[in-house]
Amino acid sequence: MVGWSVVAVALVTATPVFLTRGDLTPEAELRAEAEATWRELESRYVAEAGGAPARAPGKVSLRRGVGMLPSRNGQGRPGVVELRQGRPGVLDARLRMALRHELAHQLLWWACPASEKDRLFHEAFALSVSGELAEWREAPYQSLAPGGGRAEGAACAGAGAE
Ligand SMILES: [Zn+2]
Repeated sequence: MVGWSVVAVALVTATPVFLTRGDLTPEAELRAEAEATWRELESRYVAEAGGAPARAPGKVSLRRGVGMLPSRNGQGRPGVVELRQGRPGVLDARLRMALRHELAHQLLWWACPASEKDRLFHEAFALSVSGELAEWREAPYQSLAPGGGRAEGAACAGAGAE
């Protein structure tokens, strides 16, 4: 029984190693925010997809976005998250939301690599778990069908099993 609890703890605490390089500040607070966000997103993913890989996630570099479109607050590729920081030293709500969104992509790349080619699925997942979709639902304009999150999770679990 002891073995099981050790495994459970190991899974729950498996976050990527978040690396910063001084162009987003405060660095320690950003890394702590990223770790807390990852744990939250991972539990959402596990709840919807029914499980997550036992292997540990890799390193994720958090850096200031260079040459990002004015309309974007964040972007990323596997292992790299680029964020816009309005004011040095301030992790404002916009940056935190962009961090959640980009970490959702990172989580999906890690937990469901088969989804990589499906950009629409990726974006829908990121919007759903980042909380942006909930904000949209409270707004007058609604373009996405309700209940999408669960179906996406099931689709991803199936893809991952191949
Ligand atoms: Zn996205």
